[in-house]
Amino acid sequence: MAHPFSLHPTLAAHLKPSPTLFINERVTQLWAEGKTVYHLGFGESRFPVHPKLNAALAANIQQTSYLPTQGLPALRTAIADFYTKQMKLPTTAAQVIVASGSKPLLWALQMALDADLILPTPSWVSYAPQARLLQRTVHYIPANAADGYALTLDALDQTVRQSSNPSKLLLLNSPNNPGGWMIEPSQLAEICNYCRQHNILIGSDEIYALTAHGNRPHVSPAHYYPEGTVVFGGLSKHLSLGGWRLGVAVLPAGESGDLLMRGMKVIAGEIWSSPAAPIQYAAVAAYQEDAEITDYIATCAKVHAVRTQHLWSWLVEFGIPCPEPQGAFYLFPNFDPWKEALAAKGVHTSDDLASHLLEEYQIATLPGTAFGVPAHELSLRLATSYVDMESEEKAAHLLAAWQTNPNPQQLMEEHHPVMQETIRRFGAFIDGLQDGLRGENG
Ligand code: PLP
Repeated sequence: MAHPFSLHPTLAAHLKPSPTLFINERVTQLWAEGKTVYHLGFGESRFPVHPKLNAALAANIQQTSYLPTQGLPALRTAIADFYTKQMKLPTTAAQVIVASGSKPLLWALQMALDADLILPTPSWVSYAPQARLLQRTVHYIPANAADGYALTLDALDQTVRQSSNPSKLLLLNSPNNPGGWMIEPSQLAEICNYCRQHNILIGSDEIYALTAHGNRPHVSPAHYYPEGTVVFGGLSKHLSLGGWRLGVAVLPAGESGDLLMRGMKVIAGEIWSSPAAPIQYAAVAAYQEDAEITDYIATCAKVHAVRTQHLWSWLVEFGIPCPEPQGAFYLFPNFDPWKEALAAKGVHTSDDLASHLLEEYQIATLPGTAFGVPAHELSLRLATSYVDMESEEKAAHLLAAWQTNPNPQQLMEEHHPVMQETIRRFGAFIDGLQDGLRGENG
């Protein structure tokens, strides 16, 4: 059929459905058919809205006017204070811009620059597609499962040398999605020095900063390299407010930061104008100093930590290589040790593996390919955020259980039937593969 339009060739070239959407749509469809699915495919924090934020939103529902493109001044001031005091990054309101989620701000940064994008392997799903839609070149820094996907300075340097574009943007994400690991401060300092020497801008996606599990401090590259770092944050993860769509970017102070802000404001002004007014007014309460909200954020982070560390310790028990998570609610296990046994079942890529686990064990995951990992490396992303928190009632129940009795073992034993069954199924899956290996060997 002839269309009364033609898609832009760049968009047309990237229209194949992403594995992320495929798995999510498949789970929704299976649930609608009444089938059981153990959903580890969804990375969405699901704790209840804090009552103070609920009240703040209700009180501002009549705010109907457009707000300044850069954001509500009172909100930008609260955000600047938050970054100055809590994140130890001296920040003024002039450096802050808000948008409907950090995702459009990441887009605006890439659009504002004429830069090649340098990404660690693995990296969050949207950075590379955004770059490709903007016709920017993407370079992945090589890393592999055997080394726990360590990001090395050598590999960064090799990658930087491949790019002939004098303008480069390195996107870092710590704690990270898909694996929950964090960059160590000393390593971060080295990366920052390197970027300063080579005039590379860092985009630091710190959306999970307040979900750190507590065994490693969160440190921003802006601490070492303030003049060359753009920090991203928002309410989606630590306050479980993804659907509120409130994201933040903190640009460098000084002349180059001002120029970048001018560019990003033009993009914001021509695309989204400003985030929803009631949400911005309510967000002031989320960023203002408030011991109750700080405490709530810490509690939610702790429950994520308990649940994610629990699943991680079982994967390790089953002998599955998996970097230890230090924040957020993700795990990135690798199944390469069972490559042959899996090949015998027709599983050759991480996409095949995700489909196999869904069809045979009813476990939904995302394949490593969605995060820039080569297809033949059998890595998967598991998200614990949805497990035993499938409904609002279950999420509220779990939080209440922890608040009444903050005992990690009891929380996992008494309130996690879905997690227990998921673990049992992972065990059965690995047992089946070992049997296959024993069968072949014997
Ligand atoms: N960055 C990472 C690493 C994420 O995992 C997500 C959401 O899944 C985002 C950014 C986007 O968050 P927002 O809701 O602020 O757009």
